[in-house]
Amino acid sequence: MEQTRHLVTELPGPKARQLMERQQAVVARGVSTMMPTFAVRAHDGIIEDVDGNRLIDLAAGIAVTSVGASAPKVVEAVQQQVAEFTHTCFMVTPYEGYVAVAEKLAELTPVLGPVRSALFNSGAEAVENAVKIARSYTGKQAVAAFDHAYHGRTSLTMSLTAKSMPYKHSFGPFAPEVYRVPGSYPYRDQLEGPQAAARAIEQLETQIGAENLAAVIMEPIQGEGGFIVPAAGFLPAIVQWCRENDVVFIADEIQTGFARTGRWFASEYEEIAPDLITTAKGIAGGMPLSAVTGRAEIMDAAHPSGLGGTYGGNPVACAAALGSMETIAEHDLAAAALQIERVARGYLERAQETDPRIGDIRGRGAMLAFELVNPETRAPDAALTAAVAAAARQAGVIALTCGTYGNVIRLLPPLTISDDLLTEGLGVILDALAHA
Ligand SMILES: *Cc1c(COP(=O)(O)O)cnc(C)c1O
Repeated sequence: MEQTRHLVTELPGPKARQLMERQQAVVARGVSTMMPTFAVRAHDGIIEDVDGNRLIDLAAGIAVTSVGASAPKVVEAVQQQVAEFTHTCFMVTPYEGYVAVAEKLAELTPVLGPVRSALFNSGAEAVENAVKIARSYTGKQAVAAFDHAYHGRTSLTMSLTAKSMPYKHSFGPFAPEVYRVPGSYPYRDQLEGPQAAARAIEQLETQIGAENLAAVIMEPIQGEGGFIVPAAGFLPAIVQWCRENDVVFIADEIQTGFARTGRWFASEYEEIAPDLITTAKGIAGGMPLSAVTGRAEIMDAAHPSGLGGTYGGNPVACAAALGSMETIAEHDLAAAALQIERVARGYLERAQETDPRIGDIRGRGAMLAFELVNPETRAPDAALTAAVAAAARQAGVIALTCGTYGNVIRLLPPLTISDDLLTEGLGVILDALAHA
């Protein structure tokens, strides 16, 4: 597929318009769609639409297709597996792929000692199960999450998620025994990591009590909350407190995992060893798969038959995961993520010199973002952010926003995107900003 942006119609084009009409007639409005068009094929940095337009992909389906949306090893593994068998249910008739994925997770994740995994279908399902396992192991019930956290949209995981609109609004009541404490948001709280950790720990101790707390869950870089990188020292202090207090520390690496940030897992940057790690998104090159991986002692606390599900660790998804992990290693996509950071960060920093509305540039590897603010007050500018993203999309660049205040533009390109496409995509976004 030609790796260039190319618009032959306005967006949406005539075929996309017809599909939009069909969508509106039968698809629930709660599932809203962002790009004003429909995809037909995708490879590396380009998604082609129904009208023949080629769009620059700076989203990777929300950090999923890190190896590209049609990586040869993934395609081949899926085709081969689907022809052999599509499903037996691992709990009924097991197969090698599931075990092989668990072996890879044991090898790659920064968990100490003997490691076990359990496979599921979605990120939210992995988080739900991590909490079940932590409760079973500790005999305690409370779970603490942080301000700006995102952990999913099921009942328990939306309770762990911080932001009301659109994730929680009108969907209560929420799961019990979920507590929220302040995290670390250097651009807005101006606290050093250890200070921010002390503030969080004081609340954990006084408002919940370690003797009631089964788990603390945190994203090493907060994704939907705004690509917030906690100040250095914050994560290690929280992990140490958990260890000293018989509290399971769960690193939610669903968005940060599998080389996205320039390492296999973002926990490695601060050399923390989580008790449990949840993964999904980038794990299987686009196929639905998720995992809870953790210390054997904790994972094995759940009784036989206590964990599972019909589709968890589906053989086709496992084949894709093995193909995807092989691709990441073989093409050194962690290095590619760091190259994306070099190119994008340099470009954004130059733009910031002349445009103070770019308030903060942050992230690691190919998980980079910038906040748009009022330069005098740092007040978030959500309207400007939405206008810039919409204009970029009209120009054929798939740009995502995020953030508790809706004022963050985030870059999550496939790690296989070329430097040229990346800079062109960024150029379109910054052009939209200049004209907004
Ligand atoms: C996307 C995400 C989830 C939820 O994953 P789903 O597959 O959408 O259920 C959970 N945690 C984090 C950090 C995520 O980015």
